[in-house]
Amino acid sequence: MSRTEPARDVLRRPLTNLRLSVTDRCNLRCAYCMPEEEYSWLPSSEILSFEEISSLVDRFVALGVKKVRLTGGEPLVRRGLPTLIKLLAAKPLDELALTTNGVLLAEHAHALKAAGLQRVTVSLDTLSRARFLRLTRRDQLPQVLEGIAAARQAGFSGLKLDTVLTRGVNDDEVEGLLEFAGDHDAELRFIEYMDVGGATRWSMAQVVPAKELLEQLSQRFGAIAPLPGRGSAPAERFRLPDGRTFGVIASTTQPFCSACDRARLTADGHWFTCLYATQGMDLKAALRGGASADELEVLIRAAWERRSDRGAEERLALRGGRGPSVSAAELKAAPHREMHTRGG
Ligand code: SAM
Ligand code: SF4
Ligand code: SF4
Repeated sequence: MSRTEPARDVLRRPLTNLRLSVTDRCNLRCAYCMPEEEYSWLPSSEILSFEEISSLVDRFVALGVKKVRLTGGEPLVRRGLPTLIKLLAAKPLDELALTTNGVLLAEHAHALKAAGLQRVTVSLDTLSRARFLRLTRRDQLPQVLEGIAAARQAGFSGLKLDTVLTRGVNDDEVEGLLEFAGDHDAELRFIEYMDVGGATRWSMAQVVPAKELLEQLSQRFGAIAPLPGRGSAPAERFRLPDGRTFGVIASTTQPFCSACDRARLTADGHWFTCLYATQGMDLKAALRGGASADELEVLIRAAWERRSDRGAEERLALRGGRGPSVSAAELKAAPHREMHTRGG
């Protein structure tokens, strides 16, 4: 595999980050992601094998990808994940990370670390067991907390905790979650509730804008200092007067499309150049159809060079007329538009 000139899109954004969804299945049903009673799943014959994923990642690395994040659905429900991590850890990447809901993390943390996983982000929206059950329809907060402890014991440093703040749901836990993160040597990142595919109950009224959150925190703790060096990262980082740091991902009210270097590959090999894109490219069909490494790289480079996506900025421009971006009926017909399929 040889690295050539990195691919750049029409806005000169490089292709640097790849989110790999390894499964569309999930063991939780978060209200902002999977609120429906029933879902139809990708057929197992369509799911990429680890060898196929590894081979596609090689193509992306050749085009400039330096960071790979495993996601889903819930990535830890995919059996044998450490085997994939071993394959990916051997590639010339700057970062190999995983985003998980943490339910199965206690079971797998050591094997993930041993396989070469570098960083872990755990989604954690509440510290209340009753609320967790209401929010996810599963009574598994204790397992998530054990998972966070296990990740530290396994030697993962720089642990991140991601919290989707929803007004009237968990916006009274800002301080509690910050304290929990501090106690667990982790950095908390507040994510604005997004109107992505899957968020069929979304409304602007439920979004807690980053600006409001920062005002609330500065009233409580004193002046908050922004930290430099954001680059193309979605999170803007801040320091509280007591030295604790945290991040804010203002994807809804202050989108960062202009620096977006991320693309997403679904578990069945569809490649999307934006979280909001309606069309993806079926790389599995090309791979299974016998395309050579060079042919795949030409295909991916050409698609990236045509990319002009600014999905979240376009959503913001709708202002008051904004509701869920995709209806439940549309999602049934086009499951690739689901956040849990596309890979958050
Ligand atoms: N299941 C894993 C988890 O929850 O961490 C990985 C996949 S999940 C789709 C990735 C991230 O997307 C999670 O942090 C989740 O909170 C976030 N997410 C899902 N739906 C969202 C929404 N409507 N707005 C903002 N973030 C969302
Ligand atoms: Fe929740 Fe992640 Fe599962 Fe979506 S994929 S329901 S955010 S745990
Ligand atoms: Fe990138 Fe699309 Fe998200 Fe904008 S909306 S930051 S272009 S993935």
